[in-house]
Amino acid sequence: MKAILVREFGGPEVLKLEDVPTPHAAAGQVLVRIHAVGVNPYDTYMRNGVYAVKPPLPYTPGSDGAGVVEAVGQGVNQVKPGDRVYVAKTVTGAYAEYALTLESQVHPLPAKVSYAQGAGIWVPYGTAYHALYQCTRARAAEALLIHGASGGVGIAGVQIARAMGLIVLGTAGTEKGLELVKREGAHHVFDHTKPDYREQILKATGGVGVDLILEMLANVNLGHDLKLLAPYGRVVVIGSRGDVTISPRDLMTRRASIHAFTLWGATEAEEKEIHAGLIAGLENGTLRPIVGKELPLAEAARAHKEILEPGAFGKIVLVP
Ligand code: NAP
Repeated sequence: MKAILVREFGGPEVLKLEDVPTPHAAAGQVLVRIHAVGVNPYDTYMRNGVYAVKPPLPYTPGSDGAGVVEAVGQGVNQVKPGDRVYVAKTVTGAYAEYALTLESQVHPLPAKVSYAQGAGIWVPYGTAYHALYQCTRARAAEALLIHGASGGVGIAGVQIARAMGLIVLGTAGTEKGLELVKREGAHHVFDHTKPDYREQILKATGGVGVDLILEMLANVNLGHDLKLLAPYGRVVVIGSRGDVTISPRDLMTRRASIHAFTLWGATEAEEKEIHAGLIAGLENGTLRPIVGKELPLAEAARAHKEILEPGAFGKIVLVP
């Protein structure tokens, strides 16, 4: 089969399409014919060798994908060959024509969800769900700022929060991104490239501030976020690409708090809840993954460059 292999850590050019043996499903494993692969920012950090998880070389990247079950190993009874599934983590990597997974890593893909959409479920929707339901226990009527709402996690957050009944404020850095965030359910949108956008956010809350912030770029925004919080407000650090200075008094005066997590740390029970919640939302149409761009698997290097550029619009998906 064709698969992307990383033989040395480095820039996007280390992603090479190669011929490798098609894996076989051993006991408890599932072989999935991958029709679409989700590209996530962490794939680029891992490829660079700077991520908390440093896989042994060579490796095939990717935790997110969707496709059809090709074969199952002994003892597997949750899925069978021919089932449409999405993949949430894998044994052999999703940037490939076939991926080997554990039985617990494949989940039914509702009929109305395309393979390309299915490739954008686990990391983006799982993260937004974990942040809102499990990490901060968001409640209806709370005011939520999604700081970076136009990308994979942001759009998922907008849709989930709207379905939960929150008041959603979202930011993006382009006209196209702002329109998307508004279309997917944000009550108010703000351009994070404009110098006065933080004042506009405060104004939209009547000067009170927001109850909750999902932060996609904490190294730039965390210090400013604290000044946008209402009393007892909480910030969830989801993405960060460096260090940042904060003023602890901003937390003290508001009795505010900062939460942070990586999705890898979710417990088995939390993961079970996440998938049940997401599948229900996909079935009832409140969750609608947005595919901004589809590229052939051979263009993985281009996808890795583009995912880090400004102008996010939902997900970038690779097609094997
Ligand atoms: P993405 O699809 O590339 O989207 C990036 C988002 O950040 C876009 O909405 C982008 O907006 C926005 N952004 C750019 N400049 C910004 C600024 N100055 N202030 C606020 N937002 C800004 O990435 P993603 O998949 O949504 O992931 C977002 C971040 O979360 C990444 O750093 C990723 O690594 C991290 N993440 C962490 C976890 C975890 O487990 N903790 C899980 C998933 C993702 P424009 O392009 O419109 O400017």
